[in-house]
Amino acid sequence: MTRVFNFSAGPAALPEPVLRQAAEEMLDWHGAGCGVMEMSHRGKEFTAIIERAEADLRELLAVPANYRVLFLQGGATQQFAQIPMNLLGGGSADYLVTGTWSKKAYNEAQHLAAPLGGRARLAGSTEAAGFNRLLRADEMQLDPGASYLHLCSNETIHGVELGTPGQLPESRVPLVADMSSHILSRPVDVSRFGMIYAGAQKNIGPSGLVIVVIRDDLLGRAVPATPSVMDYKVMADSGSMLNTPPTYAIYVAGLVFQWLRAQGGLAAMEARNAAKAALLYDFLDTSDFYDNRVEPASRSRMNIPFLLRDESFNAAFLTGAQAAGLTQLKGHKSVGGMRASIYNAMPLEGVAALVDYMREFAARHG
Ligand code: PMP
Repeated sequence: MTRVFNFSAGPAALPEPVLRQAAEEMLDWHGAGCGVMEMSHRGKEFTAIIERAEADLRELLAVPANYRVLFLQGGATQQFAQIPMNLLGGGSADYLVTGTWSKKAYNEAQHLAAPLGGRARLAGSTEAAGFNRLLRADEMQLDPGASYLHLCSNETIHGVELGTPGQLPESRVPLVADMSSHILSRPVDVSRFGMIYAGAQKNIGPSGLVIVVIRDDLLGRAVPATPSVMDYKVMADSGSMLNTPPTYAIYVAGLVFQWLRAQGGLAAMEARNAAKAALLYDFLDTSDFYDNRVEPASRSRMNIPFLLRDESFNAAFLTGAQAAGLTQLKGHKSVGGMRASIYNAMPLEGVAALVDYMREFAARHG
């Protein structure tokens, strides 16, 4: 068996030790005589699995005691709808748009706001600049009375990341952040947010699972017509088990959390991720063959889009990369070019192999 260096934006590579452990436990989890996929979500075995997963996640993210952790379904896209249902409360919500994903969240909120008896407001956008940077303070018109302020802290398609607390907007309203594509890649001060959410398929585990970390005073504000399965308070009160949760995805996520703790936690991951990203950006910045157009202070450590200046080489670049065991480098169809997604599970050697390949390809075709 040969495993490639997989640069997919998601579903993305998982740590190999996690996959090996899941494989070993597939038929018989810890002597239960069956695998995790086959056991009751209400039995003592799965209860132990979900409780440990939550405890490990709380430890990794240093989640304060007044926040609840929810294991939900429907992906981050479903959260785009659940957020206004639960948090709009007949008021007005501010949205910052810095790429495709925050724009989708804003569009969904706009679609739902009127029937929910509220409003979704565009509080700032970098679309005119081609989504190549974060918003500047003077480009945001924030409503101090907003029900919440939504942002996407890592734009997976455009490669724009809000990485440091100093880059967060100055606001007293609850911040709601889509962290799908960089959660667990660096420490984060959870107390700065009212709610954090993330689809699992990049840095957490299998797709379908979505993790919500929400301050407890934001529970119980859903409009009365909210379906119970979409109501954060109902889900929190039932331990994410109003209905059958995605048990196998939660189990794999739990193995990833254990792996992260064994790596030294998020500070250690941050150091590794910074080194990986620097290797690729430093190469891109010294090359005339390739180009990354994101402003340096806004660049993502997780998703690095780049262009070949002569796009006629795109197909040959991808074919050669595939042959070298470097896969899924094609950029999102909406922006073209290439994209290297280098989440926690991508080792430094994978990025080094990519840079070697890119250097050699440029020498041959430049
Ligand atoms: N937000 C971000 C930042 C994403 O990258 C994605 C998926 N690529 C989504 C939301 C949507 O996630 P899902 O497909 O799980 O609904």
